[in-house]
Amino acid sequence: MMFLNILNKPFRRIFLGLLSVILWPCMTAMAGEIALSFDDAPWGGSEYFTGMERTEAMIKSLKDADVSQVVFFCCSDRTQYQNGRKRLKLYAVASHLLANHSHSHPDLHKTDAKAFIEGIQQAHDSLSSLPGFIEWFRYPMLHEGKTRPVRDSVRNALEEMGYINGYVTVDNYDFYMESLFQRALRDGKEVDFDKLKDAYINILWSAIEFYDDIAVKTLGRSPKHVLLLHENDLAALFIDDLVKHIRGQGWEIISPAEAYTDPIATHIPDVLENGQGRVAAIAREKGYDGDYRHPTESVEYLDKYFEELEVFKADEK
Ligand SMILES: [Zn+2]
Repeated sequence: MMFLNILNKPFRRIFLGLLSVILWPCMTAMAGEIALSFDDAPWGGSEYFTGMERTEAMIKSLKDADVSQVVFFCCSDRTQYQNGRKRLKLYAVASHLLANHSHSHPDLHKTDAKAFIEGIQQAHDSLSSLPGFIEWFRYPMLHEGKTRPVRDSVRNALEEMGYINGYVTVDNYDFYMESLFQRALRDGKEVDFDKLKDAYINILWSAIEFYDDIAVKTLGRSPKHVLLLHENDLAALFIDDLVKHIRGQGWEIISPAEAYTDPIATHIPDVLENGQGRVAAIAREKGYDGDYRHPTESVEYLDKYFEELEVFKADEK
């Protein structure tokens, strides 16, 4: 600062101008990029929204946030109920992508590879005629197989089908926050929606920062991220606020297609634990010795967090 004071005003301006030109690449390199993905569509009606209401709210929320494209990973058995197929078409009409999340959401850690592959094919046969469909597969529970033969036979089948792995880079427990919300509604509790929104945003942002930190430590850079979310009520209620928060941190929302152009998309990690997404899997492969799971990825943590914040209160009426 002393140095700047010594410079007279025009020189100071030139000096600061030059400094910002030099630092600009570093500043932009620090700004992250992230795509949004929503699993388990079309999720059925809940205590708060019918399926159709949720779809309409989600589309509006994404439009209000000026997010032009996200991807919904769909289970084909859910398309038969509650306007399921119609809802998926509405997402596609709104320029979003639809991809494969299996027929009935089996856990590859508990299913044999052959049945699992048949479920992917069944979903493909049902979903591929929908507009906006793309050959990306997201493993239910992010479980990619407990043994190498199982893992590799599913990976090979996907490749033969022309699919890529619709991986995530940011894991989190949004599904558990949703279940706390639904339970509170069922129990007739009063919901403080502002606190609920803050909790949702803070928890998800801390997960984004956590996985980005692992990436920087293991890849030496921040990759194009893919955020795991679910097609649930909290997303439909708060996605615009979450997007605002992410952008407020200097980050950019990108399309999932752009996210999957990152070099990590073609780096298939040779590990058996893929449950926290691609960044964590690559970190495991490289022998990273830090934590692979954020503390908020815990039922106990979230129970306590929501309780302390008093997100839900017993209705005293
Ligand atoms: Zn799922």
